[in-house]
Amino acid sequence: MGTQDASGDEDCLFCQIANNQSEAEILLSDDELVCFRDMKPGAVHHYLVVPRRHIDNCKTLQRDNVSLVERMEEMGRSILQKNQVCDLDDISKMNMRSQLRYGPQSHWFITVDKVLSQLKTGGKVK
Ligand SMILES: [Zn+2]
Repeated sequence: MGTQDASGDEDCLFCQIANNQSEAEILLSDDELVCFRDMKPGAVHHYLVVPRRHIDNCKTLQRDNVSLVERMEEMGRSILQKNQVCDLDDISKMNMRSQLRYGPQSHWFITVDKVLSQLKTGGKVK
């Protein structure tokens, strides 16, 4: 994570995955998004959905990214359905280290609801 611009970056791991330049197995993809298993899973079902177009982080999202975020959430749900995760408790079974790394108090954590409501009200993502 750095301060690259939005044009993609050779050093960006997610862009490498999206361009099939990494070992990661792409589980789902369309012309806009790719989904793969986290390399250091914090839970049995820990998947990432990233846009093919490089986006630095949630805070650089704009209002016109609303539908993109919604489609990312949709793909996240479909990978869980595909893997027959019906019990949402399963998803939250993280070990302690992962909870610290990915949980609500971590720097990276933001819920889809929060992103969408902030974008839709015209504000930026905080
Ligand atoms: Zn990238």
